[in-house]
Amino acid sequence: MRAVVVTPKKPGSGRLAEVPDPQLREGEVLVRVQQVGLDGTDAEILEGQYGEAPPGDDYLIIGHESLGRVEKVMGGATGLSPGDRVVAIVRRPDPVPCRNCAAGEWDMCLNGQYTERGIKGRHGFLAEFYTESPDFLVAVPAEIAPVAVLLEPLSIVEKAIEQIKRIQSRLVWQAERAVVLGAGPIGLLAGMLLSLEGIEVHFYDATERGIKSDLAEASGANYIWAGERKLSHELAAEIGAVDIVVEATGYSPLAFDAMDMVAPNGVVCLTGVSGGSRKLEVSADHLNLEMVLSNKVVFGTVNANRRHFESGVRHLLEIEARWPGLLSRMITRRLPLTEFARAFERSPDHVKSIVEIS
Ligand SMILES: [Zn+2]
Repeated sequence: MRAVVVTPKKPGSGRLAEVPDPQLREGEVLVRVQQVGLDGTDAEILEGQYGEAPPGDDYLIIGHESLGRVEKVMGGATGLSPGDRVVAIVRRPDPVPCRNCAAGEWDMCLNGQYTERGIKGRHGFLAEFYTESPDFLVAVPAEIAPVAVLLEPLSIVEKAIEQIKRIQSRLVWQAERAVVLGAGPIGLLAGMLLSLEGIEVHFYDATERGIKSDLAEASGANYIWAGERKLSHELAAEIGAVDIVVEATGYSPLAFDAMDMVAPNGVVCLTGVSGGSRKLEVSADHLNLEMVLSNKVVFGTVNANRRHFESGVRHLLEIEARWPGLLSRMITRRLPLTEFARAFERSPDHVKSIVEIS
């Protein structure tokens, strides 16, 4: 079959290749891939910064945001039938396992020995087929199939917002306002989920105006261009007390600005990955005092568990009902397999790029 592969840790080795078909085993299903979304992690793998081939192979099939159709069901595989639309979960528990993986919380793995399809030690989905156990597949209803390739990025956001609620159950709390840093796919999806909860959402992004501000405003949110405004107490005084900040840019200085400007009892949720080595001078005494005297929390979150994919399915239906067509507008580039590399051409006119396979 055809697949997009890399030689891990070798920059620029991404290529369309002919690879052996996956071997279908007892208890598994064969899935024909329809769409794969590409993101910053895929870009890092193509740049050779990240990525690990499965044992015994010298290449890695990339792609972890998927939508496919079940083609064949082997004996022992229950709950799915040919024709079902499915999205695959990305992470698998470590073989040890650590106490979190042993409890099914593989997204909270302690020792880092987990594997991830398309990223770390397992082939991904940017290929014509893959095989998988139904334990790691989530069925999606037909009415959201056109946007279900967004379920994997949405699962990251589902976990982030679940964690915010669990952490804030420490106090009497009614969030009224959130600032989302970055109006990329993760930020936009976070803004939509927060809006569904009745929270006033303000996006803060380095892009002036265009598709990102259009999508943000179409979801009822306010859009603030970072070129005009600093993320500061002054901004908070203008828009109102900010109970939640979701950081989704990976530009690490914003995390510190967010800790400073978030309201008393507020929470800062970090989801952006910063791969660099940026150093920053911070007002440590001031920040420490702000955090202590205002009961603030800052936390990081990564990956997602099965329940986050399942709540994501429910929210895709709700988002489609509330803002019809908005999720489809997030998919700004649809490419054939032969043109996968174009997904990584940076442009302010693009939000989410996907490859359409069948
Ligand atoms: Zn573990």
